[in-house]
Amino acid sequence: MTFPIPFDNSYARLPRSFFSQLSPTPPRSPELLHYNQELGDLLGIPAAPDAQYAAVFGGAALPDGSTPIAQLYAGHQFGSYNPQLGDGRAVLLGEVVCDDGVRRDIQLKGSGPTPYSRMGDGRAWLGPVLREYIVSEAMHALGIPTTRALAAVLTGEQVLRETALPGAVLTRVAQSHLRVGTFEVFAHRGQKGELKRLTDYAIDRHFPEADGPMGLLREVCRAQAELIAAWMSVGFIHGVMNTDNCTICGETIDYGPCAFMDEYHADTVFSSIDQTARYAYSNQPRIIVWNMAQLATCLLQLYEEPGTAVEEATEIVHAMPEQIDTAWRKRFGAKLGICDPTPQDAELIETLLALMQQQGADFTNTFDALARGDARDQFTDREAFDAWSVKWRARIADETSAQTTMQAASPRVIPRNHRIEEMIAAAVGGDYQPFTRLLAATTSPYTTQDTELMRPPTQSQRVPATFCG
Ligand code: AMP
Ligand code: MG
Ligand code: MG
Repeated sequence: MTFPIPFDNSYARLPRSFFSQLSPTPPRSPELLHYNQELGDLLGIPAAPDAQYAAVFGGAALPDGSTPIAQLYAGHQFGSYNPQLGDGRAVLLGEVVCDDGVRRDIQLKGSGPTPYSRMGDGRAWLGPVLREYIVSEAMHALGIPTTRALAAVLTGEQVLRETALPGAVLTRVAQSHLRVGTFEVFAHRGQKGELKRLTDYAIDRHFPEADGPMGLLREVCRAQAELIAAWMSVGFIHGVMNTDNCTICGETIDYGPCAFMDEYHADTVFSSIDQTARYAYSNQPRIIVWNMAQLATCLLQLYEEPGTAVEEATEIVHAMPEQIDTAWRKRFGAKLGICDPTPQDAELIETLLALMQQQGADFTNTFDALARGDARDQFTDREAFDAWSVKWRARIADETSAQTTMQAASPRVIPRNHRIEEMIAAAVGGDYQPFTRLLAATTSPYTTQDTELMRPPTQSQRVPATFCG
C-alpha cells in the first residue's frame, strides 16, 4: 500500500540466520485506539486517516518499504537457559533514521504467530497493550531510557486467556530490539561468524566509539548501570529481568508484570510468576550484573586467546556494583536536594528509606512531599522523621538549588497499579476515558494537577500481584 514511512532496514540485511521473514497476520477488523502523534512525527510517519493507521499498525496492511521479520534470540529465564525464544508474537516492520540522527525500530507486538511462537497464539490482549502503552510513555516522560508506544489498535478478535478477551496490537518503537539473548543464541550454538557479525552490528548501531567486543561490553554495562539506578529512583520493579528482556542499547523493554511500588519496601515483588523473588526491587542492581556476566561470557567467545580479554571482562563486570552505587547516589541524592552526593551521603539516604520502610510511607508521595517541604505527614512516627530532617537540613544548607533539584528528581505522579487495573477494566468495557486521563497525567509527571491519581490505593484498591500478558 502507499504509506510512505522512510524505512531503511539494516537488520533485514543481516544473514538469514538472524531472523524469519514473515508478514503480520491481518486482524479481522482493526480499529485505532490511540496514536502517538509526537512520536509519529519524529519517525517521519505521514498524516493519515485513523482507518489507515489502524490498518498499518494493526498488521492488516504492510506499508511500502517494510521488510517484516521476526527476530531470533534466546535467553536465561529466571536463571535457566532457554536455547530458543525469538519474537513469538512480534514483527519488526522496519527501521527509520529519525531527524535526531537516531535509528529506531518500528515493531508490532501481538501481530500473530511466528516460527518462534511455540505454544503461544502470537496475540496480545488489550490489558497488557494499554499497560505497556502507559508505562513506557510514563517512563519516557520521567527521562528514563525506554522503548516507546506509537499506536494501540483493537483487532476486533477475541484472544483466549483465562477468559475470552479483546485482542490488540501495540506498535513499539526502540533504538533497537537487540538483547543479551540475541548474543546468547549464537554464542551458545557456537556460531562464531554470526556472533562476530552481530557484535559489529551492535557497535556500529549503538556505540560506534567502542573498541571491539570488550569496548561494547563496557558501554552496555555503563548504560544498564544508569538504567537500573533510574528505575530504583522511581520505585520501578521490572518483574522479568530475564536476559531476553535486557537490551544492548540500555532501554527498558518488555513491560509485562512490571509495577511501581506504592508504600516503600525494599523486598517488594508484584509478579505472580516470580516465586523466588529473584526480581524483587532491591535485587535489580544484582541481577543486572548477572545479566551482564552472561553477555560477557558470549563476547569472550570472539577471542582466540581469551587470556587478557577474560581479565578485562572481569574488570568491567566487577566494576558494575560501584557504577550502580554511584548512579544510585546521584539519583537519590537529587531527590534530597544534593547536587553532588559523596559516598558519605549514602547513609542519609538509607536512613530515610529505612524510616519509610518501617512506617509504610508511600514512595512517590514521600519524595514529592520532601521536594515541597511537607513530608512530615507522610510518616506516622513524626519525631523519627524530625530527627532525620535535622540532619538532612544541615546537609543541604549550602545547596543553592536544593528545591529545584528535588522537584526535577521526584515526580508527582506515576502509573499506580490500581489505576492501571481500573483503566484496563474500563477499556474492556469500552470506556477509554480512564486510559486517556492516566496517560495525560503520567506523561506530565512533574506538573500534573490530577491529585486524585496521586493518591495511594486504599486497602480495597490494593493490587497484590501482577501478571504477564
Ligand atoms: P516475554 O515474557 O514477553 O518476554 O516473552 C517471552 C517469550 O515468549 C518471547 O519469545 C515471546 O515472544 C514469547 N511469547 C510471549 N507471549 C506469547 C504469545 N502469546 N504467543 C507467542 N509467543 C509468546
Ligand atoms: Mg520478552
Ligand atoms: Mg515479549
